[in-house]
Amino acid sequence: MHIYRHSDVLLSQLSELIPKTIGLVPTMGALHKGHLSLIEKAVSENDWVIVTIFVNPTQFDSNTDLVNYPSNLEQDLELLSPFGEKLMVYTPRADDLYGEKAVAGSYQFDILEKTMEGASRSGHFQGVATVVHKLLSVFKPTKAYFGEKDYQQLQIIHALVAQLKLPVTIVDCPIVRETDGLAMSSRNTRLTPIQRAIAPVIYETLCKAVALKKQTSILQINEWVTAFFREHPHIELDYFCVANNQTLQLVEETNGEENLRAFIAVKLGEVRLIDNVKF
Ligand code: AMP
Repeated sequence: MHIYRHSDVLLSQLSELIPKTIGLVPTMGALHKGHLSLIEKAVSENDWVIVTIFVNPTQFDSNTDLVNYPSNLEQDLELLSPFGEKLMVYTPRADDLYGEKAVAGSYQFDILEKTMEGASRSGHFQGVATVVHKLLSVFKPTKAYFGEKDYQQLQIIHALVAQLKLPVTIVDCPIVRETDGLAMSSRNTRLTPIQRAIAPVIYETLCKAVALKKQTSILQINEWVTAFFREHPHIELDYFCVANNQTLQLVEETNGEENLRAFIAVKLGEVRLIDNVKF
């Protein structure tokens, strides 16, 4: 495993290796098995794999959230070391990617960035698109790997690549969950023991919503989820919705469609968690 702070050093090393295929796995660190599943897939499909560990400032609308984002580089490198020689880890400072001032670019994603996370976190997807565009342009990977855990982000990245005709294949990777169903997330480490114990209710709610779809309308499922969390002493619901799995247009009636997905975002104290399932 090789570790780089500067992209030009990584690129000059890479040019000597003349790889046929390069996999890219962008992360913000505080790695867990969800991240590792992306890296395993990338390692199995490419000559070389670049894992980036970078907490991207332009995708945070709140400085508190940015400052509180968990980070543990030493532990991350330990988790990555079993992947061995094929791995290049890029852990830059912001100026290596952004120059003097980290500012987001300007992209048009319409509904994709206005709904759900976009409605709750102003400018978030402009920041995500900016950093992913930079990483794809600098490293020119054959394939780049992203998790369905951040399903809306994944659709934004598909749109970015299609709009700019970037020569890369985006690989969608399934959500990895804890044994009790909670979707793995770096933010889970910030939950108190009590919050962690009740957090599986997020996935349970999504599963119940799917089970209810045969007997009731999406509108009623929405009402049930809202009422359920209104009574919940520890969890605040930000949104629950069902949407088309590509356009992310909200849907109120199923009409037997197969291409739907249910999404949820909640807050447990200060910790905001998201999840989604096929609906
Ligand atoms: P992050 O470090 O949170 O920005 O995540 C880096 C990548 O890992 C993103 O593509 C995420 O969607 C993906 N990821 C995070 N958690 C999971 C998970 N539980 N299962 C699958 N992929 C995940």
